[in-house]
Amino acid sequence: MAVKFGRYRWLGYLIVVLTMVVIGIPALIVRGCSWESREPVKEDGVQLKLQISEKEIISLPLEQYLIGVVAAEMPVSFHEEALKAQAVAARTYSLLRLVREEEDDQHPDAHLCADPTHCQAWISNEEMRKRWGWNYRLHYQKISSAVLSTAGKVLTYEGQLIDPVYHSSCGGRGTEDAKEVWGHEVPYLKSAACSYDAPEKQKPVNTQISLQELFTKLKISDQSIAVAAGSDLIEIQERTESGRVKRVKVGSQTFSGVELRKRLGLRSTDFKVSCTGEKVLFSTRGYGHAVGMCQYGADGLAQRGANYDQILSHYYQGTKLKTIPD
Ligand SMILES: [Zn+2]
Ligand SMILES: [Zn+2]
Repeated sequence: MAVKFGRYRWLGYLIVVLTMVVIGIPALIVRGCSWESREPVKEDGVQLKLQISEKEIISLPLEQYLIGVVAAEMPVSFHEEALKAQAVAARTYSLLRLVREEEDDQHPDAHLCADPTHCQAWISNEEMRKRWGWNYRLHYQKISSAVLSTAGKVLTYEGQLIDPVYHSSCGGRGTEDAKEVWGHEVPYLKSAACSYDAPEKQKPVNTQISLQELFTKLKISDQSIAVAAGSDLIEIQERTESGRVKRVKVGSQTFSGVELRKRLGLRSTDFKVSCTGEKVLFSTRGYGHAVGMCQYGADGLAQRGANYDQILSHYYQGTKLKTIPD
């Protein structure tokens, strides 16, 4: 009997070992791979509805959404303090959309959409995987820690959420006063010095278009072309305090720098222009409307030792960081 019992005991050990191999180890591996869930995104916090395509709306926690926004709006190679500044700006904008009372005409059933020309850019985890390949895990953790370490933090001016507009690069000229772009004063969107953009972002970029294209896009009539004959076709008449084009004359018509940029699809309103024969050459610096936070400048400031709070108060003057209640 003793011999038999001994045999069964070995069988018991064998079963335990096999169970560990078949169930335990794969379970550990699966747990080990679910690293995304180690980042504590609160499922019971603020939830929002996001229009991700014409027909699809998803519901997700605010902080989870912000990971997708920061991943889409800023290069992951940026300094973590710049990513945190972006996270706070994106969170403030999102909450501004959530708390407003009227519906959005473009997406009445969702708070926000993933179209950067309307709301903010946003990408899914699948898109991040595609973009980052083998670096997905590393990059995801960098972005999510920037978002989650600033969880709940928003920017306010006199106790109200601000409209934290931002742009890619001011080109090293400093940011623009909101009044020059949208025609009205915004106390926290004044011109701020910014010589921190990466050197390659401060170089001029040339774009050449044909005279015909210029006339078509500006809807310039034959008459005004005739008026312009013999004189300089394009004349920059006034620049803003930051040095960008405020008013420009093309033929006999006058445009604001903002309007000209929009119609011709120029990178910025910081440009020089010259005409040679049938071609017009625009030499632009920077990219975007130049108001609010300069993203490349934020990275440059972070590289120089600024933290996200200092970056935000540099570009959004007179604002205060606040933490929203859970
Ligand atoms: Zn939208
Ligand atoms: Zn800048």
